[in-house]
Amino acid sequence: MSRAEILAKFEDHGVLPTQQRLEVADVLLVKPQHLSADQIIEKLRKENSTVSKATVYNTLNLFEKNGLVKECLVDPERRFYDSTTQPHHHFYNADTGELSDIPMSDIEVSRLPELPAGTQLEGAELVVRIRNLAE
Ligand SMILES: [Zn+2]
Repeated sequence: MSRAEILAKFEDHGVLPTQQRLEVADVLLVKPQHLSADQIIEKLRKENSTVSKATVYNTLNLFEKNGLVKECLVDPERRFYDSTTQPHHHFYNADTGELSDIPMSDIEVSRLPELPAGTQLEGAELVVRIRNLAE
């Protein structure tokens, strides 16, 4: 994603562009991917960025709150930020910690329980947990 596209995205989501936010966006929004805060920090360090850990966390929270990225809670130990914000499902490989996308159309949810009173359905995105076969 080009700088101009990122700036347009920021504007769409009401995020004010700062140098640090742009650096985090450059790493995360460049392609459809799932990265943890630590992975983002690691990539920033490789590019000699001086953005602090706290700023990365705050920036990711802000992006999430404004719908610029989506948070994937697949594992209490691993919180991923997803650059794809449209609804979709995931494979989660518990052996490798890798998260990969499954298009919405590949899974059909044929029956859902009755929703609790006073609620409406917001989404039903699945995490399909997998493991590597033993060799
Ligand atoms: Zn995803």
